[in-house]
Amino acid sequence: MDRCPTIDIRELVQRRGVDFDDAFASLLRLYLDVDRHSGELTAGYDLPCHKGCDGCCHESVFVTPLEFYGVWTWLQEHYGEGERAEIVRRARAIYEAQRDAIRALNAPPPLGEVDHTQVARTIRFRCPLLGDDGGCLVYPVRELYARLFGCSFNEQSGIYGCDLSGKYFANKELTLLRARSVALQLNDLPLTDMRQIYPYYIYELFGVLEG
Ligand code: SF4
Repeated sequence: MDRCPTIDIRELVQRRGVDFDDAFASLLRLYLDVDRHSGELTAGYDLPCHKGCDGCCHESVFVTPLEFYGVWTWLQEHYGEGERAEIVRRARAIYEAQRDAIRALNAPPPLGEVDHTQVARTIRFRCPLLGDDGGCLVYPVRELYARLFGCSFNEQSGIYGCDLSGKYFANKELTLLRARSVALQLNDLPLTDMRQIYPYYIYELFGVLEG
């Protein structure tokens, strides 16, 4: 597919009774607040996360519709149709190869499980928004969890991050944000009624187009 028509995200969102600009401005304020607070707490550390390290971009990262709409709006403003079409092509391939597991994220958690963590672990992919150089194509508007990865606590008070981050912070006296409680703040914003992964949202937006 080399077509990737521009989608009127504002109109799409308006159909759900939401003013996109207001909602996205609120989301950006939350991002700013989290970045600032996390930056203060980790100011004394030389975090292993650095440009070009894409370790966190090869697993299922949960994203709300509002975050996705913000990302796609930004993409449409900064990338041409050909580049967007390539992202859609990658997302479609991921979606079609792992459709059942991805759609299972929309259903209640499997019996005996409290959330979709286990299902999400079975979905492996390189984020379609990851550039060839290992940099995030939408870095300024990347999702909340990317901002918390490698610099916050998980629910077990371990590091929410990769092995590298875990080893770096091991045996250090730490005060960090708690990823889950920060992420719950998203619920105060509109268009945050579900969590899915980028390939799902992109497929939903463009899946009907011919390949
Ligand atoms: S959007 Fe960017 S930061 Fe988030 S998973 Fe994709 S490449 Fe990584």
